[in-house]
Amino acid sequence: MVDWERLDALTVEALSQYLRIDTTNPPGNESAGAAFLGDLLRENGLDYRLFETGSGRASLLARLTGVGEGKPLIFLNHIDVVPAEAEGWQVHPLSGEIRDGYVWGRGALDMKGMGIMQLAAFIAVAGESRRLRRDLVFLAVADEEAGGYTGLKPLLEKHPQDLEADLVVNEGGFALTDLVPGKPFFMVACSEKYGVWLRLVRRGVGGHGSMPTGQGALELFLPALVRLMSRKRPLHINPIMQGFFSRLAEYWEILAPYREDGDPETLRRIVEKNRLDSIPALNAVLRDTASLNMLHAGTKINVIPDRAEAFLDCRLLPETDAEEFLRFVREALGDEEIEIDRFLDMERAPASPSEGEFYRAVEESILACYPGAVVSPFMLSGLSDSRFFRARGVACYGIIPARLGLADLTRVHGSDERIAVKDLRDGVRFLYDLALRVCA
Ligand SMILES: [Zn+2]
Repeated sequence: MVDWERLDALTVEALSQYLRIDTTNPPGNESAGAAFLGDLLRENGLDYRLFETGSGRASLLARLTGVGEGKPLIFLNHIDVVPAEAEGWQVHPLSGEIRDGYVWGRGALDMKGMGIMQLAAFIAVAGESRRLRRDLVFLAVADEEAGGYTGLKPLLEKHPQDLEADLVVNEGGFALTDLVPGKPFFMVACSEKYGVWLRLVRRGVGGHGSMPTGQGALELFLPALVRLMSRKRPLHINPIMQGFFSRLAEYWEILAPYREDGDPETLRRIVEKNRLDSIPALNAVLRDTASLNMLHAGTKINVIPDRAEAFLDCRLLPETDAEEFLRFVREALGDEEIEIDRFLDMERAPASPSEGEFYRAVEESILACYPGAVVSPFMLSGLSDSRFFRARGVACYGIIPARLGLADLTRVHGSDERIAVKDLRDGVRFLYDLALRVCA
């Protein structure tokens, strides 16, 4: 039997302490966080291994060994957090303060809170000395916030046999409380977009600012950039997002025609007619996007620059071919003189199925632990470490079981990040239930 009283106290106290360890990336310094997690495991009689992927960049792996009927279930979390400016916070972001029923600090939601929930569930399963069908693995990694290139990526390349899995449970969606009144809406990330970063260069003729020629690099560049920004990629509602809308359709009147006929064409018409894609969060998962985020040109106010540079953060649907997207960019710019350098391609991975044994296990555990919950597949517009596992054919589901209003989402990477004590406790029970469902 699990001693829940002890485990609940451990969860809250451990998170509070974990938030005080500075693992801001850069530089990361995840070794300090890994050592803390390792101590917690050892205090509970459990072993672990550390993997170094750089100086001060440790990841930690702990394993409960099963009899090998199926590959392991991995609880995946990242140790690093994004920087936080103390200004604008009600508490110090590295304080781990417990106040008003919440644990506060950078990483409470993204994703030290989930890491501690996974660890507590792992300890709970270990304490029961059950026979496990498959291994249960706790994996806390470095460098997710900088893309995982000094974390999970090299780890998977160097130690693939240690990271075999049938199922990975990671960060991704949250349980939104204001999509459907009275029902926490668990958005289980099954897929994500991939990034293509572009550097555009336009050369022109330099000269004296007192004598413009119309041939300066900026004068030539800006109209093309404006043409590109004014063009939209076509709307594309992929099967994961169709699944999301069909769950929502059970509650949203606006989606009633789609609820009735289930035809993707009907859904498209509803989205277009009601301009649902004018909501940035929806637009980002319904089409490819290009965001113009940096412009460099000129050194002096009276000198016409002969070179201008722009950086575009492009996020593509998993169904989009990057070459086809680049042809669109070139055509939209309408200027053959612009050089396009595709300087970073992020990994494109297939979606994990929103049906089948493992998705169903996640869904059943949520429904068992959160009465009245709705469970829906979803696609992330951003990136997570899940892509590295998905690219290897491993089913990956992203859900942090914190119940949040839409307004709370700004706390992730923003100020006053916090997680409810109740969410921590319920989350441990959910992950414990899921571990037993899949492994026992
Ligand atoms: Zn994260």
